[in-house]
Amino acid sequence: MTPLLPVIFLKMEAELYKYITELYPICRSITGDGTRETLRLISRHIPLEMHEVASGTKVLDWEIPKEWNIKDAFIKNSKGEKIVDFQGLNLHVVNYSTPVHEFIDLATLKKHLFSIPEHPEWIPYRTSYYDETWGFCIRHDQLLGLREDTYEVLIDSILSAGSLTYGELYIPGKNEDEFLLSTHICHPSLCNDNLSGIAVNTFLAKEMLRSDNRYSYRFLFIPATIGAITWLSQHEKQLSKIKYGLVTSLLGLDDVFTYKRSRIGNSAIDRIAEYVLKTSNVPRNILDFIPYGYDERQFCSPGFNLPVGNISRIPYGQYPEYHTSADNLNFISKKAVNDSYKIIREIIRQVESSKKYINLFPKGEPQLGRRGLYDSIGGRNDSKQLQMALLWVLNYSDGNYSINDISDLSGIDLKLLNEAIQLLLSKKMIKEL
Ligand code: ZN
Repeated sequence: MTPLLPVIFLKMEAELYKYITELYPICRSITGDGTRETLRLISRHIPLEMHEVASGTKVLDWEIPKEWNIKDAFIKNSKGEKIVDFQGLNLHVVNYSTPVHEFIDLATLKKHLFSIPEHPEWIPYRTSYYDETWGFCIRHDQLLGLREDTYEVLIDSILSAGSLTYGELYIPGKNEDEFLLSTHICHPSLCNDNLSGIAVNTFLAKEMLRSDNRYSYRFLFIPATIGAITWLSQHEKQLSKIKYGLVTSLLGLDDVFTYKRSRIGNSAIDRIAEYVLKTSNVPRNILDFIPYGYDERQFCSPGFNLPVGNISRIPYGQYPEYHTSADNLNFISKKAVNDSYKIIREIIRQVESSKKYINLFPKGEPQLGRRGLYDSIGGRNDSKQLQMALLWVLNYSDGNYSINDISDLSGIDLKLLNEAIQLLLSKKMIKEL
């Protein structure tokens, strides 16, 4: 056994984690320079195209908001001591806070403070994208310890006309049919939620750039919700090319793999993702589509209804560290991020190899005996199963079902189905689509 493979994976684990460490301190949001800086770091690995869409642009039922940028923020007590400092942790400021510089009493300050009573050590992550206000997020134990005083609050932010920024990479394959991989890039210092998805998708894009692909690949690095809505509104004419899609998120915890089906429910990506999770023998949780979660909500909205599923480990919001300062560099596991990469890579590999065939004799059941097919299968221990494989391949090779789909429907393993396909190809009864 060669030790080369584990070495490659260990190296990959370390690279993915190092990359997450570089991205961690940046104060990202749905717009602004933190997001641009993040896209620039991604561009060091892959040739990302950056797009800017102006504030005020109508996108479907929404409008691109004002751009938000922040330089500094703090709360000082009357002695001039900084008791909360944005420079130490960007989660301290409610994302999209309006600028403020005031001297206020404790009661007024408390109206602008957020904490988590159940986890007094953690700092919550809060946003206020569509409601112009300001606030700070602090530890609950700190909040309880605050005394009557005059507090200086400063948020040096700018909320003004600018643009929304997103990154896109299109990798053409032999076929114009597309595989869409989308992840959100709008969370500040949070690792599992956000950075694990960015890291996995960047490395997947790197890999797809190196390989010779049957399908075309489109990677989107977009702010959640408004980014997906923006991209969809500007690419409506080309959406029919998307034949497979995955929204990736929450890939950093050693836990079950969760696959949430597309709204279609049994599209090719649903069948292949489920097949890969089953055959990879990993703990898994398969969920039907619900209109809540990440950007699959937008891609699977009824007017688009794209074949896009969501893959994550423990799902959306179902761990206490979710959207808190505890979702940090110590919370995620290097191995988990790498395992997530490997599973999604395997899904892509299956999509690439999942060919479709056309039955050239689709009217009635073709006569297998006359073509010598019974001779080919006679005398084998599994001749009955091979005959079944032939019948399944013939019946479902109408251009809609891939070999993986037929395996799923029939329960026949891919190896035997491939044998049946080779036999049928040799007798010119099917052809590859
Ligand atoms: Zn989130």
